[in-house]
Amino acid sequence: MSTPPETPTNITTPAEEIDLDTLRAKYAHERDRRLRPDGPVQYRSAAGEFGYYAKDPYTPRTDREPKTDTVEVLVIGGGFGGLLTGARLRQAGIESIRMMDEAGDFGGTWYWNRYPGIHCDIESYSYMPLLEEVGYVPEWRYAPGEEIRRHAVAIAETFDLYRDTLFQTRATDLAWDEQADEWVIETDRGDRMRARFVITSSGTMTQPKLPGIPGIENFRGHTFHTSRWDYDYTGGDQTGGLQGLADKKVAIIGTGATGVQVIPKVGEDAEHLYVFQRTPSTVDVRDNRPTDPDWAASLRPGWQRERMENFLAVIAGEEVETDLVQDGWTATSRLQRKMITGSLDTTLSPQERERIDEIADAQTMNRIRARVDEVVEDPATAELLKPWYRYMCKRPCFSDHYLQTFNRDDVTLVDTADHGGVTRITEDSIVVGEAEYPVDCIIFATGFEVGVSGVMSGAMPVHGRGGQRLLESWATGLRTLHGFYTDGFPNLFHLGALHNANSVNFTHILSEQAEHIAAVISRARQEDVHVVEPTAEAVQAWVQVVAETAHDNSAFQAQCTPGYYNLEGAGLPAGISYSPGPIPFHRLLAEWRRTSMHEVLGVKS
Ligand code: NDP
Repeated sequence: MSTPPETPTNITTPAEEIDLDTLRAKYAHERDRRLRPDGPVQYRSAAGEFGYYAKDPYTPRTDREPKTDTVEVLVIGGGFGGLLTGARLRQAGIESIRMMDEAGDFGGTWYWNRYPGIHCDIESYSYMPLLEEVGYVPEWRYAPGEEIRRHAVAIAETFDLYRDTLFQTRATDLAWDEQADEWVIETDRGDRMRARFVITSSGTMTQPKLPGIPGIENFRGHTFHTSRWDYDYTGGDQTGGLQGLADKKVAIIGTGATGVQVIPKVGEDAEHLYVFQRTPSTVDVRDNRPTDPDWAASLRPGWQRERMENFLAVIAGEEVETDLVQDGWTATSRLQRKMITGSLDTTLSPQERERIDEIADAQTMNRIRARVDEVVEDPATAELLKPWYRYMCKRPCFSDHYLQTFNRDDVTLVDTADHGGVTRITEDSIVVGEAEYPVDCIIFATGFEVGVSGVMSGAMPVHGRGGQRLLESWATGLRTLHGFYTDGFPNLFHLGALHNANSVNFTHILSEQAEHIAAVISRARQEDVHVVEPTAEAVQAWVQVVAETAHDNSAFQAQCTPGYYNLEGAGLPAGISYSPGPIPFHRLLAEWRRTSMHEVLGVKS
């Protein structure tokens, strides 16, 4: 398992041959021709008149009676964050746990995203949580989506989390009852139930997003978003065999991480596929392979935690004896750190560090661009597929099938960069500039509204002590202790990256969060404490720590082509997550549990 990935283009451009000024000018030119004055508001939500794009195509809706009962813990969200928390609470001996989700089953991201070709782009042995607890070793190094979804179900079964579940249910209001020390939860199913503790883990990339292309509402052909795949129309399954497309001209709009995975599968089966690209992704070697049974048999207890921690450490730039994962992520960890913590080497001046980082970036990007020339036969198409920006401007992608798809006669790449994207959609075609492409079907691989959980969007209003609204408490900036809780909103815990750690292997972050929340709730139960709430001083102190340690990434982001990483060119505010990185954060949390946990419980240490 420790063989380095095969690299067809192993060329590293010598540093002295890299002309940074020319490269910077090229990157600036490519960014400028994509910047749009409407920035993030160019998109439309898959709601209202476009609500059908967000409908669940997988589980028929079933009726049920409203609930008015009381549980000890309500977990909102049945993805890996919610499942991990449910599992850890169950391990801590809590019987009364209710899981709730808008979806028809567990899985979160992996429930909704079932498009052909879907895989996890993080190594499955580190990404898929609780493997040892469930007794499972993934079949592939990078697992297909269906295997991951089934694993989510297996976690729920292992920890008996189906018992009291409410699926197809959306919380519409949370109100703290100060007399009973309980939350009252209302839902879109007419429920009015109670819970002592509420945990929100509703994800940050759940709502499909559509481009605001003029005429989008006029299209008369078939259309859907990748996160609600219509297999009734396409036929086949996640492995391909989309026979319903055999006589169809299909358009895919979007070439991000989703587009890179789905385009090869649609390209195989459609009569003709038109790929509408605005910005090419970086597409590095994937090198997926089945799990070696001898390696699987050799694993000793504790192996998964060790591997997850090793991956996190390598990505975060910590010293490790061995890089256990050795893939495209760990090979480019230096470049990824720029996004979160900045460079680590403090022996050099900031200018020297920046120059070394920029050279390493250029070497990686040159290699990725050279791979395009190596794989794509038509030179003009190859030119369009080359990404011209710094490596971490967009989510890095990996595929051994994507670039190859453009060698097919029945696949056409249509570049839209000079037009800010697709120009117009008519009743039966897509227009880019003056050119019109008649199509039977449009598939939107245009991503998600990022950071929009029910709590943050206000779709799930939260009323704490005295009826105070959570979003009002956060009106001048996020106010939490460690990202988990806020004074005035007792017994309410949030999972996610805000004021907390972040990493590409986000299930690891969720796993630490779940263990932390379970430890706090367990301790509260041991001490017979009914209310867990940080003081305003503790919250203020954490807000200050996050602000003082914030790594200002705005200069880097300003050079990037637009995308959701930089709020479509507007730039993200610093200090959303804890900048020193996940490893110091996890150490800090462990120390806090040892020495300061009593403070949120109002008991003596
Ligand atoms: P993205 O937001 O990354 O990509 C959207 C795509 O749509 C971009 O290529 C964008 O172009 C294009 N687009 C948007 N508007 C237009 C327009 N008007 N005309 C033409 N093109 C347009 O969404 P994804 O679903 O690809 O990925 C979202 C995230 O989901 C990833 O970054 C990743 O975090 C996660 N993911 C993870 C996977 C995994 O394996 N772990 C797999 C898939 C996704 P432009 O770049 O120019 O804006």
